[in-house]
Amino acid sequence: MSDSLPGPLGLFGGTFDPIHFGHLRLAEEAIDHLGLAGVRWIPAGQPPHRGMPQVTAQQRLEMVLRSTRKNARFSVDPAEVEAAAPSYTVHTLERLRSELGHQQPLVLLVGADAFAGLASWHRWRDLFALAHIAISHRPGFPVETASLPHELATEFADRRLADPAALGLAPAGSIVTFAMTQLAISATQIRKLLANGLSARYLLPDAVLDYIDLHQLYKTP
Ligand code: ATP
Repeated sequence: MSDSLPGPLGLFGGTFDPIHFGHLRLAEEAIDHLGLAGVRWIPAGQPPHRGMPQVTAQQRLEMVLRSTRKNARFSVDPAEVEAAAPSYTVHTLERLRSELGHQQPLVLLVGADAFAGLASWHRWRDLFALAHIAISHRPGFPVETASLPHELATEFADRRLADPAALGLAPAGSIVTFAMTQLAISATQIRKLLANGLSARYLLPDAVLDYIDLHQLYKTP
Protein backbone atom coordinates (compact mmCIF):
# COMPACT_ATOMS: atom_id res chain seq x y z
CA MET A 1 0.00 0.00 0.00
CA SER A 2 1.31 3.48 -0.88
CA ASP A 3 1.80 6.20 1.73
CA SER A 4 1.01 8.96 -0.76
CA LEU A 5 -1.82 11.36 0.00
CA PRO A 6 -5.11 10.98 -1.89
CA GLY A 7 -5.62 13.38 -4.83
CA PRO A 8 -6.64 16.86 -3.70
CA LEU A 9 -10.38 17.45 -3.52
CA GLY A 10 -11.70 20.81 -4.71
CA LEU A 11 -14.43 22.50 -2.64
CA PHE A 12 -16.49 25.14 -4.36
CA GLY A 13 -18.87 27.22 -2.28
CA GLY A 14 -21.09 29.99 -3.55
CA THR A 15 -24.56 31.40 -3.56
CA PHE A 16 -25.12 30.14 -7.12
CA ASP A 17 -28.10 32.48 -7.47
CA PRO A 18 -28.27 31.14 -10.17
CA ILE A 19 -25.39 28.86 -11.20
CA HIS A 20 -23.85 29.91 -14.57
CA PHE A 21 -21.09 28.97 -17.01
CA GLY A 22 -18.51 31.09 -15.14
CA HIS A 23 -18.97 28.76 -12.14
CA LEU A 24 -19.00 25.61 -14.25
CA ARG A 25 -15.85 26.47 -16.20
CA LEU A 26 -14.08 27.49 -12.99
CA ALA A 27 -14.73 24.06 -11.44
CA GLU A 28 -13.95 22.13 -14.62
CA GLU A 29 -10.72 23.99 -15.34
CA ALA A 30 -9.62 23.81 -11.69
CA ILE A 31 -9.69 20.01 -11.94
CA ASP A 32 -7.33 20.04 -14.91
CA HIS A 33 -5.04 22.90 -13.85
CA LEU A 34 -4.70 21.79 -10.23
CA GLY A 35 -4.81 18.01 -10.69
CA LEU A 36 -7.88 17.62 -8.47
CA ALA A 37 -9.61 14.29 -7.90
CA GLY A 38 -12.92 16.14 -8.28
CA VAL A 39 -14.91 19.14 -7.12
CA ARG A 40 -17.53 19.11 -4.40
CA TRP A 41 -20.03 21.93 -4.90
CA ILE A 42 -21.35 23.48 -1.70
CA PRO A 43 -24.27 25.86 -2.28
CA ALA A 44 -24.64 28.30 0.60
CA GLY A 45 -27.69 28.30 2.80
CA GLN A 46 -28.69 31.77 3.91
CA PRO A 47 -25.23 33.30 3.36
CA PRO A 48 -23.70 35.37 6.15
CA HIS A 49 -22.30 37.92 3.67
CA ARG A 50 -25.38 39.07 1.80
CA GLY A 51 -29.06 39.78 2.07
CA MET A 52 -31.83 37.29 1.43
CA PRO A 53 -31.43 35.72 -2.04
CA GLN A 54 -34.40 35.95 -4.41
CA VAL A 55 -35.05 32.23 -4.61
CA THR A 56 -35.01 29.63 -1.87
CA ALA A 57 -31.82 27.83 -0.94
CA GLN A 58 -33.51 24.59 -2.02
CA GLN A 59 -34.15 26.04 -5.50
CA ARG A 60 -30.52 27.18 -5.83
CA LEU A 61 -29.41 23.71 -4.78
CA GLU A 62 -31.74 22.15 -7.35
CA MET A 63 -30.21 24.29 -10.13
CA VAL A 64 -26.71 23.20 -9.08
CA LEU A 65 -27.81 19.54 -9.09
CA ARG A 66 -29.31 19.87 -12.58
CA SER A 67 -26.15 21.52 -13.94
CA THR A 68 -23.61 19.12 -12.48
CA ARG A 69 -25.22 15.67 -12.55
CA LYS A 70 -23.74 14.56 -15.89
CA ASN A 71 -20.19 15.29 -14.72
CA ALA A 72 -18.70 12.31 -12.89
CA ARG A 73 -15.97 14.54 -11.41
CA PHE A 74 -18.52 16.77 -9.68
CA SER A 75 -20.46 16.05 -6.52
CA VAL A 76 -22.85 18.26 -4.57
CA ASP A 77 -22.91 18.74 -0.81
CA PRO A 78 -26.38 19.91 0.34
CA ALA A 79 -25.43 20.34 4.02
CA GLU A 80 -25.31 24.16 4.10
CA VAL A 81 -28.67 24.41 2.35
CA GLU A 82 -30.20 21.88 4.70
CA ALA A 83 -28.78 23.48 7.86
CA ALA A 84 -31.22 25.55 9.89
CA ALA A 85 -28.66 28.27 10.71
CA PRO A 86 -26.29 30.19 8.38
CA SER A 87 -23.09 28.22 7.74
CA TYR A 88 -19.66 29.79 7.76
CA THR A 89 -17.02 28.32 5.45
CA VAL A 90 -14.74 27.57 8.39
CA HIS A 91 -17.45 25.39 9.96
CA THR A 92 -18.06 23.58 6.69
CA LEU A 93 -14.34 22.87 6.36
CA GLU A 94 -14.20 21.57 9.94
CA ARG A 95 -17.07 19.23 9.15
CA LEU A 96 -15.39 18.01 5.97
CA ARG A 97 -12.12 17.48 7.82
CA SER A 98 -13.79 15.19 10.31
CA GLU A 99 -15.58 13.40 7.47
CA LEU A 100 -12.54 13.01 5.18
CA GLY A 101 -9.68 12.78 7.69
CA HIS A 102 -6.64 14.94 8.37
CA GLN A 103 -4.54 13.68 5.45
CA GLN A 104 -6.86 14.48 2.56
CA PRO A 105 -5.62 17.58 0.70
CA LEU A 106 -8.54 20.00 0.37
CA VAL A 107 -8.54 22.97 -2.00
CA LEU A 108 -11.05 25.75 -1.50
CA LEU A 109 -11.81 27.27 -4.92
CA VAL A 110 -12.55 31.00 -5.01
CA GLY A 111 -12.79 33.65 -7.68
CA ALA A 112 -10.48 36.66 -7.40
CA ASP A 113 -13.32 38.87 -6.14
CA ALA A 114 -14.21 36.43 -3.38
CA PHE A 115 -10.56 36.09 -2.32
CA ALA A 116 -10.18 39.87 -2.07
CA GLY A 117 -12.90 39.83 0.61
CA LEU A 118 -11.51 36.85 2.53
CA ALA A 119 -10.28 38.88 5.52
CA SER A 120 -13.92 39.65 6.38
CA TRP A 121 -14.84 35.96 6.62
CA HIS A 122 -15.52 34.41 10.02
CA ARG A 123 -12.21 33.07 11.52
CA TRP A 124 -10.54 33.53 8.14
CA ARG A 125 -7.02 32.75 9.35
CA ASP A 126 -8.19 29.30 10.50
CA LEU A 127 -9.09 28.45 6.91
CA PHE A 128 -5.41 27.89 6.10
CA ALA A 129 -5.12 25.10 8.69
CA LEU A 130 -8.06 23.35 7.04
CA ALA A 131 -7.53 23.74 3.28
CA HIS A 132 -5.41 25.19 0.52
CA ILE A 133 -6.93 28.06 -1.41
CA ALA A 134 -6.92 28.25 -5.21
CA ILE A 135 -7.84 31.63 -6.70
CA SER A 136 -9.15 31.81 -10.25
CA HIS A 137 -8.74 34.92 -12.36
CA ARG A 138 -12.01 36.74 -13.04
CA PRO A 139 -12.55 39.63 -15.46
CA GLY A 140 -12.36 42.95 -13.64
CA PHE A 141 -10.69 41.57 -10.50
CA PRO A 142 -6.88 41.57 -10.56
CA VAL A 143 -5.12 38.94 -8.43
CA GLU A 144 -2.22 40.97 -7.13
CA THR A 145 -0.89 41.90 -3.74
CA ALA A 146 -1.41 45.63 -4.29
CA SER A 147 -5.17 45.17 -4.58
CA LEU A 148 -5.53 43.18 -1.34
CA PRO A 149 -5.95 44.44 2.22
CA HIS A 150 -2.64 44.40 4.07
CA GLU A 151 -3.20 41.34 6.30
CA LEU A 152 -4.42 39.27 3.39
CA ALA A 153 -1.61 40.44 1.11
CA THR A 154 0.89 39.16 3.69
CA GLU A 155 -0.75 35.73 3.83
CA PHE A 156 -0.93 35.66 0.05
CA ALA A 157 2.79 36.42 -0.31
CA ASP A 158 3.86 33.97 2.41
CA ARG A 159 1.70 31.05 1.36
CA ARG A 160 1.81 31.33 -2.40
CA LEU A 161 3.02 28.31 -4.35
CA ALA A 162 4.15 28.67 -7.93
CA ASP A 163 3.48 25.03 -8.81
CA PRO A 164 -0.09 23.78 -8.30
CA ALA A 165 1.18 20.18 -8.41
CA ALA A 166 2.59 20.80 -4.91
CA LEU A 167 -0.96 21.12 -3.52
CA GLY A 168 -1.05 17.34 -3.23
CA LEU A 169 2.00 17.27 -0.96
CA ALA A 170 0.21 18.65 2.11
CA PRO A 171 -3.40 18.64 3.33
CA ALA A 172 -3.71 22.44 3.69
CA GLY A 173 -1.97 25.80 4.03
CA SER A 174 -0.94 27.02 0.57
CA ILE A 175 -2.36 29.47 -1.94
CA VAL A 176 -2.21 29.11 -5.72
CA THR A 177 -3.69 31.12 -8.54
CA PHE A 178 -4.87 29.74 -11.84
CA ALA A 179 -5.94 31.28 -15.11
CA MET A 180 -9.28 30.05 -16.38
CA THR A 181 -11.13 30.95 -19.57
CA GLN A 182 -12.22 34.50 -18.84
CA LEU A 183 -16.00 34.72 -18.78
CA ALA A 184 -17.46 38.04 -17.71
CA ILE A 185 -20.65 36.39 -16.47
CA SER A 186 -22.19 37.09 -13.09
CA ALA A 187 -25.35 35.94 -11.38
CA THR A 188 -26.18 39.62 -10.81
CA GLN A 189 -26.16 40.23 -14.57
CA ILE A 190 -28.37 37.18 -15.16
CA ARG A 191 -30.87 38.25 -12.48
CA LYS A 192 -31.06 41.72 -14.07
CA LEU A 193 -31.62 40.35 -17.56
CA LEU A 194 -34.40 38.08 -16.36
CA ALA A 195 -36.04 40.80 -14.28
CA ASN A 196 -36.12 43.00 -17.41
CA GLY A 197 -37.60 40.24 -19.54
CA LEU A 198 -34.36 39.88 -21.57
CA SER A 199 -32.62 36.70 -22.67
CA ALA A 200 -30.02 35.07 -20.44
CA ARG A 201 -29.58 32.17 -22.84
CA TYR A 202 -26.02 30.87 -23.37
CA LEU A 203 -24.85 32.40 -20.09
CA LEU A 204 -26.06 29.40 -18.12
CA PRO A 205 -27.21 25.85 -18.87
CA ASP A 206 -30.53 25.38 -20.67
CA ALA A 207 -31.61 23.02 -17.89
CA VAL A 208 -31.29 25.90 -15.41
CA LEU A 209 -33.20 28.31 -17.65
CA ASP A 210 -35.97 25.73 -18.04
CA TYR A 211 -36.14 25.43 -14.24
CA ILE A 212 -36.21 29.24 -13.88
CA ASP A 213 -39.04 29.46 -16.46
CA LEU A 214 -41.01 26.66 -14.86
CA HIS A 215 -40.88 28.25 -11.41
CA GLN A 216 -41.07 31.86 -12.66
CA LEU A 217 -37.92 32.85 -10.77
CA TYR A 218 -36.07 36.20 -10.93
CA LYS A 219 -39.09 38.04 -12.27
CA THR A 220 -38.40 41.12 -10.14
CA PRO A 221 -35.12 43.06 -9.73
P1 ATP B 1 -23.39 37.54 -7.72
O1 ATP B 1 -23.32 38.28 -9.04
O2 ATP B 1 -24.78 37.26 -7.25
O3 ATP B 1 -22.50 38.15 -6.67
P2 ATP B 1 -21.53 35.51 -8.71
O4 ATP B 1 -21.80 35.37 -10.17
O5 ATP B 1 -20.32 36.26 -8.28
O6 ATP B 1 -22.84 36.05 -7.98
P3 ATP B 1 -21.28 33.56 -6.59
O7 ATP B 1 -22.22 32.42 -6.36
O8 ATP B 1 -21.32 34.69 -5.66
O9 ATP B 1 -21.53 34.05 -8.12
O10 ATP B 1 -19.80 33.04 -6.75
C1 ATP B 1 -19.33 31.80 -6.33
C2 ATP B 1 -17.85 31.76 -6.64
O11 ATP B 1 -17.64 31.75 -8.06
C3 ATP B 1 -17.05 32.95 -6.11
O12 ATP B 1 -15.80 32.47 -5.63
C4 ATP B 1 -16.85 33.81 -7.35
O13 ATP B 1 -15.67 34.57 -7.27
C5 ATP B 1 -16.75 32.77 -8.45
N1 ATP B 1 -17.20 33.25 -9.75
C6 ATP B 1 -18.45 33.61 -10.10
N2 ATP B 1 -18.53 33.96 -11.39
C7 ATP B 1 -17.28 33.85 -11.89
C8 ATP B 1 -16.70 34.11 -13.19
N3 ATP B 1 -17.44 34.56 -14.21
N4 ATP B 1 -15.36 33.87 -13.34
C9 ATP B 1 -14.63 33.43 -12.29
N5 ATP B 1 -15.11 33.19 -11.04
C10 ATP B 1 -16.42 33.39 -10.84
